[in-house]
Amino acid sequence: MSDPARIRASLQHCKSILISVHKNPDGDALGSQLALMLGLGKMGKSVTAHNLDPVPEIYRFLPHADRIKTGRPLSGTYDACIVLDAEPSRTGLFDESVPADVLINIDHHITNSSTWAETWLDPSASATGEMVYRLILEFGTTLDRDMALCLYTAIFTDTGSFRYTNTSPESMRIAALLLEAGADPWLVTENVYESFAFRRLKLLGNLLASMEQSEDGSVAWVVVTDELYRKTGTSAEDTDNFINFVRSVKGVEVAVLFRQTAEKEYKISLRSKGRIDLSDLAQSLGGGGHRNAAGSTLPGTFEEIRDRVLGAINNTIEAQLGKREI
Ligand code: 5GP
Ligand code: MN
Repeated sequence: MSDPARIRASLQHCKSILISVHKNPDGDALGSQLALMLGLGKMGKSVTAHNLDPVPEIYRFLPHADRIKTGRPLSGTYDACIVLDAEPSRTGLFDESVPADVLINIDHHITNSSTWAETWLDPSASATGEMVYRLILEFGTTLDRDMALCLYTAIFTDTGSFRYTNTSPESMRIAALLLEAGADPWLVTENVYESFAFRRLKLLGNLLASMEQSEDGSVAWVVVTDELYRKTGTSAEDTDNFINFVRSVKGVEVAVLFRQTAEKEYKISLRSKGRIDLSDLAQSLGGGGHRNAAGSTLPGTFEEIRDRVLGAINNTIEAQLGKREI
């Protein structure tokens, strides 16, 4: 287990540093990555940011987002590699070896299996951005406006705009300090939640029109197929946060979004209203996540995966809430 002081010491003699985040990066992953890139840059380090997937359109406003390299393979070798907001395997970038000597993982997911010796894991942090904020303070670097904007975006998006249960006095205090350092809250809101492409809302309309619910109403789900992407001219990033509409249905305890990723493969996103803990369920399906937000990717046809996932959810609800009256 690591901590900010150990990470500072480990990085002291490193000159070149690679920073990577998980596939389909979100606001927390990208905000944390860019803030850390800027912080280490100020310390005179040569920093490379490299992810498997491109920066979604809604996050391209983040300062220096255009410096993030994407795709495979990774090029070069580095003194250190830092993986943020996921366990290293979820970057999808490394096969057997990582092209760096010092390996650091910083994450707030309780399901992180701490495969790297130098793992700083804090499930009490609302966002990885909160941890990167503490790390930058530990470095003794001054937080500038760009770093503050990136970290504010990280915390704002991972707390669902300060609405989810991970919103804490600490996340609010850090957010206040980030605003004082110059982060503009409307710039973030406008880009992330008020600038949707027309096609995205068309896709949402299609999805909501075909939403389904279990007999007792405790589970609701939607499915995005390749065919629907084609029909609406959309891609995976256009589905970001759609699952929240499914969870918002009264009576729903668990919402699921099935998203096709290959002919016979679906990514599942799970959301709970809080009474059901999803992290074990997601792990039993080969994935991971938090109590209220988790996911996995499964092989099979949609029907096979749907039946397996809905069956597992049903068992989880019964185990956690007891037999329900239908
Ligand atoms: P989302 O549904 O937004 O993709 O993910 C929700 C949460 O579950 C995130 O915190 C994410 O890290 C976690 N998660 C989603 N898919 C996977 C997966 O395949 N493996 C693991 N370990 N975590 C996942
Ligand atoms: Mn996060």
